[in-house]
Amino acid sequence: MVSLRGVDKHFGELHVLRSIDLEVAPREVVVVIGPSGSGKSTLCRTINRLEPIDAGEIRVDGQLLPAEGAQLAQLRADVGMVFQSFNLFGHLSVLDNVMLAPLKVRKASKATARSEAMALLERVGIADKADRVPAQLSGGQQQRAAIARSLAMHPKLMLFDEPTSALDPEMVNEVLEVMTSLAADGMTMVVVTHEMGFARRVADRVVFMAAGQIVEVAPPAEFFDATRSERARSFLSNVL
Ligand code: ADP
Ligand code: MG
Repeated sequence: MVSLRGVDKHFGELHVLRSIDLEVAPREVVVVIGPSGSGKSTLCRTINRLEPIDAGEIRVDGQLLPAEGAQLAQLRADVGMVFQSFNLFGHLSVLDNVMLAPLKVRKASKATARSEAMALLERVGIADKADRVPAQLSGGQQQRAAIARSLAMHPKLMLFDEPTSALDPEMVNEVLEVMTSLAADGMTMVVVTHEMGFARRVADRVVFMAAGQIVEVAPPAEFFDATRSERARSFLSNVL
């Protein structure tokens, strides 16, 4: 579903992604962990083509990036992204937030967009909040609305960049539960998170990044219980 080969990226002098190779299979859940500043967000943003790369190639569902014009719009529709900050439109109801892209981009009919949006709000457990504006929701509910909004575009792949980092602790689980059920339904997912319990339970593979490089890739049991690199061991000793 996603393939990165030799991806390099600089911000000026700073070499943020160093020869990244990564394949994500359909229905696979890859959890990316690593210290702050190691390039995790940049990696997500390059997959979604929010950031250009300097070298290498990225394919999403076989399609080579860089894409432009209509191709780029299609690519963006195929790749859902959920950020730490919920990025909902504050002046629109939750339902309208979820209906917006299907109406504008997919040219869905209003009736179809509405019934699909309600089904998605049901799925993330906030159908009763459909007519509220985001400010009337808790952080956990807002993040679930943001997930529903992404899913409304029928993405082939979902990128999550620290989706629970801005939440009060008691709201983390409700968001992780939605993500866990998405994974169980077969969604292909790349998840940047510091939630090691989620990584252990839900990831097919854990990718550990440090200083712009992929240092270690392993199934979670192996990664957590038989960590190979000193860099990852030291990281884990600080977060576990
Ligand atoms: P992470 O998500 O792992 O914390 P990031 O991908 O956000 O790391 O950042 C990697 C490095 O790139 C950091 O040193 C960060 O300061 C730098 N960086 C990120 N975005 C930009 C940008 N737009 N311009 C310049 N430097 C950036
Ligand atoms: Mg980040």
